[in-house]
Amino acid sequence: MSDFANLPVRDDLRGRSPYGAPQLDVPVRLNTNENPHGPSPALVARIATDVAAAATALNRYPDRDAIGLRSDLADYLSSTTGVPLDYHQVWVANGSNEVLQQILQTFGGPGRRALGFGPSYSMQELISRGTGTEFVERPRRADFTIDLPDALRDMGAMEPDVVFICSPNNPTGTAVDTRVIVDIYDAVVSTGRGIVVVDEAYAEFSNRPSAIELLADRPRLLVTRTMSKAFAFAGARVGYVAADAAVVDALQLVRLPYHLSAITQAAARAALAHVDELLGSVDAVKEQRDRLALEIVALGAAVIDSDANFILFGGFPPPYGSDQERVWKALLEHGVLVRDVGLPGWLRVTAGTEDEVTAFLAALATVLGAATEESG
Ligand code: PMP
Repeated sequence: MSDFANLPVRDDLRGRSPYGAPQLDVPVRLNTNENPHGPSPALVARIATDVAAAATALNRYPDRDAIGLRSDLADYLSSTTGVPLDYHQVWVANGSNEVLQQILQTFGGPGRRALGFGPSYSMQELISRGTGTEFVERPRRADFTIDLPDALRDMGAMEPDVVFICSPNNPTGTAVDTRVIVDIYDAVVSTGRGIVVVDEAYAEFSNRPSAIELLADRPRLLVTRTMSKAFAFAGARVGYVAADAAVVDALQLVRLPYHLSAITQAAARAALAHVDELLGSVDAVKEQRDRLALEIVALGAAVIDSDANFILFGGFPPPYGSDQERVWKALLEHGVLVRDVGLPGWLRVTAGTEDEVTAFLAALATVLGAATEESG
């Protein structure tokens, strides 16, 4: 990357690094929580046909309000959660990152504060900063659950404008109990300011109830979702939020006109017409996640219970200990890319295909086995 130190960038961006997991060309890439199963030939053909139809009208701007796509997403959420929703309660953008940005542009900003429970999704902090919002990270407990009494005290003392609850949480996989969400919501709303964002990017991999079920009568609750994970649609960039219709209206204040291209809208609607197939890979992914959890422990390392499509693992033997970077490099030398999220002693691995998981486990066995021999 070129050096921009001499450019007059904003003071609060100086010395910062852009977000980005390494995109390395290695045989086994298990570092960005993608779904390893690509679309079927039938779905690819349907997308091609629908995108071709949309292409005939590319001289025109797209449906600025993406009403068809929002209706399809509302139907999907209603059918999977049992909560009746329509497009007035759903907003969609280029990935849930853009949705999070729009939320912070609307409800955060200079002089306002966002709060998250770390370790969590690092874009919470980066998007906060990018929108001039102060970001405060409160620590989770050692088992990566949210300390509710602590959290409730924070809500009173800090009066945040935006509270992030990621469930299942990235990078730990930890699901957050409904009661914790409800109590934090009540505490935030009782301050008279603030909204609560439940980031459910990985919800489809969990068997627990969705926070969508909490939306009725909670006008300041926002539940974000994405098509990038369970839907195996990361390359298309589609994320969305379900919330009270007034919240959806408020988000219109900051969205760029025609932000979601006609091509994206057509591709996403084609994909949603094949929702059963799209979600068909979820069980296979969960199977590999559960296999990872069992086998990593069998290799003598530790794992955190995960409701998502990845596993946080650590507890490395000497000489690694809390030096997760050394384990990361050793795995890379065996052609396996996992994620170092900067948590001392922990790494994150995505549940890939059966073959990818087999390759990862073999590499980990060699790396940890070599460590044991070295220290023994
Ligand atoms: N939220 C969480 C918790 C994530 O892990 C991710 C992707 N890594 C996102 C949101 C953003 O996903 P996308 O922009 O692809 O929808």
